[in-house]
Amino acid sequence: MSRIRINRNKAKFRGLFGIRARLVLLALILVGPLMAERIRALDATRAEQITLAARDFSSVVQHSAEAQQEVFGSVEAVLKSSAYIYTSAAQVNRSCAIMRASLRGDMPWIRSLTVAGKDGTAQCSTWPDVVEQGLNFGDRPYFKKALASGEFVVSNYLFSRLTNQPSVMAAYLAPGMTRDDDAVIIAAVNLGWMSKIMSKLGGKPGVTAVLVDNAGTVLAAPSDQASMIGRPMGNLALLPAIAAYTLNSDRQAGSLSFAADDGTQRAVSFAGIPGTGAQLIVSIDEARVSAIADYEIRTAYLQLGFVCLFVLLGALVVAERLIIKPIEMMETMAQRFGRGDWSARVARNRLPAEFIPLARAFYGMAAQLRGRERELRASNEQLTVLASIDMLSGLANRRSFQSRLDFEWLKAQQSGDDLALLMIDVDHFKLFNDTYGHPEGDACLARVGEALAGLAHHTSGFAGRYGGEEFCLLLPNTDVARAMQIGEMVRAAIWSLSVPHTTSAYQQVTVSVGVAAATPIELEQPKDLIEAADASLYAAKRRGRNTVVEHGFVRTFGTSASLVG
Ligand code: GH3
Ligand code: MG
Ligand code: MG
Repeated sequence: MSRIRINRNKAKFRGLFGIRARLVLLALILVGPLMAERIRALDATRAEQITLAARDFSSVVQHSAEAQQEVFGSVEAVLKSSAYIYTSAAQVNRSCAIMRASLRGDMPWIRSLTVAGKDGTAQCSTWPDVVEQGLNFGDRPYFKKALASGEFVVSNYLFSRLTNQPSVMAAYLAPGMTRDDDAVIIAAVNLGWMSKIMSKLGGKPGVTAVLVDNAGTVLAAPSDQASMIGRPMGNLALLPAIAAYTLNSDRQAGSLSFAADDGTQRAVSFAGIPGTGAQLIVSIDEARVSAIADYEIRTAYLQLGFVCLFVLLGALVVAERLIIKPIEMMETMAQRFGRGDWSARVARNRLPAEFIPLARAFYGMAAQLRGRERELRASNEQLTVLASIDMLSGLANRRSFQSRLDFEWLKAQQSGDDLALLMIDVDHFKLFNDTYGHPEGDACLARVGEALAGLAHHTSGFAGRYGGEEFCLLLPNTDVARAMQIGEMVRAAIWSLSVPHTTSAYQQVTVSVGVAAATPIELEQPKDLIEAADASLYAAKRRGRNTVVEHGFVRTFGTSASLVG
């Protein structure tokens, strides 16, 4: 790229990057780091809020899980004590009555207690219908497991054979005297009660809380999510994830982040209920939980945006008022100076303090320029005068005589007046120079000029030095007769100077005068008048010098007039 192009591009860039843009950039440089810091703080707050929410939920989950565990613990205790009571009683009928009586009424989480024989047939129940209808639990997996293992067993989600109600059963072996006398105590757990325990986890937007069995069927949920009870939990894939988590750690509770089927990112807190295979799972939609934080962050961004906008606008307004405007005022003032208006001033109170010295410098410069302009004008006038004057004779020079002639010619053309011209030539001046020397010749010309100036003044004419020793006298509004008289006056005036000229026939300096007069409309151009006067002068020379000759006629003073040529 050529150097010129680089310079041009630089100039273009500077043009774009004017003072306003620079101030805006400055404002951005000032505000930018503050904005960046604020954005960073807001993002940190958002992350913190989500962490806090997750931690809060984690502890709520833990508490709820503990409450559920208490329920199952108490069910286990009831079953074990019932089994003991049942086994201790000798007669079936009696033991059943004792067992029924032992179930305390203030245990709302147990709906019923039933004793089933080894074959699974109900033998005794707090719900008489169970025995009356001869219900058999023998095929239920939890029954089989309790019978075989002798441990406390909790079933998965199932439907009660008696009521067809969703239910979860807990079972415990009541050993008989012989293996054939073994029985299993079965408690129907009140799912409604378990859901009630979870009420604290309900009513929170973006949060789902469920108690699931080990097959993933929802056993209990807060009242606002009750429709999920009995159904497989959403996102069943979560179970293997939780299983993997618990497998790798010795804890039954924890938190993990999980991408749900609907695409939402969820923070999941879970806690296993020991000895039951049930899990309490709370999943939080991060986006919804952080929605409030996001809203606050958006508002903060908006506020930041406005702050920036105001800062930028402020910078522009300040720049406009404090810098651009004063510069424009100074520019206007400088332009007025340029037009010669030296009185231009900017009101002091409209200028910021920093601009006042600059304004003063401008005023000083204007004063100096004004002085210089005056000097220049005076010297120009002087030069104009000098350029139009012949220094030796003090008369107008040829150029200025020519323009005066043009002017008078036009004037006479308009008025119809006569215009006369006298061409005056010193006789035998070469000889004069030869005799007296050039300086004396100059002095002679100066005296002739002086005499002609006097005559011009007297006759309202305009005298000039036409060149060398040749002079002219322009006589506006003068006819040929008057011009002849003035010509004679010129000749006589030079004669009366009595400047000695020994090499002249007259022994003193004389002049010959050619006269021409015209009414300018008749002739075509001023040069015609000059040519006519010249011709008369030539005739005067031929007539013996010291003579006045009129164009067309020769009039020798002291003799009678005769024709030229
Ligand atoms: P004529 O009567 O026919 O006019 O004769 P002349 O000698 O006056 O005319 P010519 O044209 O032969 O000579 C003019 C002389 O005038 C020649 C020149 O040296 C002299 N001259 C012209 N200008 C100046 C000047 O400024 N100073 C001096 N000292 N002499 C000048
Ligand atoms: Mg001459
Ligand atoms: Mg001459």
